[in-house]
Amino acid sequence: MTRYTDAIDASLQRLHDEGRYRTFIDIARSQGQFPHAVWTRPDGSKKDITVWCGNDYLGMGQHPEVLGAMHAALDATGAGSGGTRNISGTTVWHKALEAEIADLHGKEAALVFTSAYIANDATLSTLRTIFPGLIIYSDALNHASMIEGVRRGGGEKRIFRHNDVAHLRELLAKDDPAAPKLIAFESIYSMDGDFGPIKEICDLAQEFDALTYLDEVHAVGMYGPRGAGVAERDGQMHRVDIINGTLAKAYGVFGGYVAASARMVDAVRSYAPGFIFTTSLPPAVAAGAAASVRFLKGTGGQALRTRHQTQATILKTRLKAMGLPIIDHGSHIVPVHVGNPVHCKMLSDMLLEDHGIYVQPINFPTVPRGTERLRFTPSPVHGPQEIDRLVRAMDALWSHCALNRAEQVA
Ligand code: PLP
Repeated sequence: MTRYTDAIDASLQRLHDEGRYRTFIDIARSQGQFPHAVWTRPDGSKKDITVWCGNDYLGMGQHPEVLGAMHAALDATGAGSGGTRNISGTTVWHKALEAEIADLHGKEAALVFTSAYIANDATLSTLRTIFPGLIIYSDALNHASMIEGVRRGGGEKRIFRHNDVAHLRELLAKDDPAAPKLIAFESIYSMDGDFGPIKEICDLAQEFDALTYLDEVHAVGMYGPRGAGVAERDGQMHRVDIINGTLAKAYGVFGGYVAASARMVDAVRSYAPGFIFTTSLPPAVAAGAAASVRFLKGTGGQALRTRHQTQATILKTRLKAMGLPIIDHGSHIVPVHVGNPVHCKMLSDMLLEDHGIYVQPINFPTVPRGTERLRFTPSPVHGPQEIDRLVRAMDALWSHCALNRAEQVA
């Protein structure tokens, strides 16, 4: 037995040695109070904190319309769905949610999965079955769920340099023109907050007769006139063959999906083990997600999107004015470059303990070594007071730790 326990200890020690052992911060959100929450320390004592690293980007996790829909469905139907989609787990709530999503993206159909991770993994790995000989061209910084889906599906893959359309063209041109092809990429890369070149990639896809697969996980709800994402904002949505999104970030609930043609969705639905062999979402979750998508399509959503962008701009402007190394690509995500896992963790610990500000350190493998960072996610519910407190705390800590200023990271 000892050789197994020794191996476990050694694997954990490696993470400690590198300063990237992950600790969970135990928080309790209180409905209506977000971004305020209560942190329970390991010794059981409690502290009031402000959450600055959540992906409930618009505060929809506490929106009355979402909660109302969830309560109504829960009271009407009970807790779980009690089955896989194929065996008694398809309900009116699942169908309504899929119709809402298909309409959002202007596609014929949508398919809901347990999460966007599973949607990416299950869909990308299954496309190889549907299109024998498929070559997948994948952006070098694609999310782990896409990498996993591409890898598990087997077959040919080409990795193009991040957002490098010239490199992608080179790779496409080298392959057999007759081979089926798919380009997989994201609209917003969540760790730097930079945008994918959607139009240019759709142009290339058209030229080389390739399909496009776009992960809009960090954009849905937040960009475009109805919150369908960056492709909607840029007038490119109709050119993307498969759109992936989450219901767990800006929509504030849980679950993930793909939206595409009815034929494509039918094929994925019929072949993807990650869709077929697992229990469907609880109906109350589906009802809450549908209410959130519906709400964010309308004028209420537009107001939240505008306020969201304003808050992000204010925070970036103020942190930049102090000379902090912000990574700014014009999106709602505000990463501050630290560049060292130990410093990053130390800053995060001090922010939490001394200032009641919770921002999780982002270390390898989520980002490359040497690019460790604090990633702030302002939202419409982070008011001027919260922003003030954060800016003052960052100023004090940067001085205290004698960290570099005025290093602007593009
Ligand atoms: N795609 C991207 C780009 C992500 O960043 C994430 C999660 O952080 C996912 C997919 C998975 O989303 P979900 O949390 O719904 O599984």
